Amino acid sequence: MSLPGGPELLIVLVVVMLLFGASRLPKLARSMGQAGKEFKEGMKEGHQAEPVEGPCPFCAAAVPAESKFCPGCGKSADDIVAEKARQAPRSA
Ligand SMILES: [Zn+2]
Repeated sequence: MSLPGGPELLIVLVVVMLLFGASRLPKLARSMGQAGKEFKEGMKEGHQAEPVEGPCPFCAAAVPAESKFCPGCGKSADDIVAEKARQAPRSA
């Protein structure tokens, strides 16, 4: 991907300013940067730990959201997520 340079970049900037208004540009850029950052963080967290909530597949005890262990049988969140994925029907 190549970025437009020189006159093309100026034209793009002018069009963007006309569309959004020059005063809103810094706010727009900041919110876009923030959204990108949050998106990346969300992706990172998604790889680290999946959300665990609902009934435990081993003992049917209710597992609170973001809990690391089942309060009923003491299985770890990883075990619960893996067992839920195994039990889940393949066709949605
Ligand atoms: Zn359990």
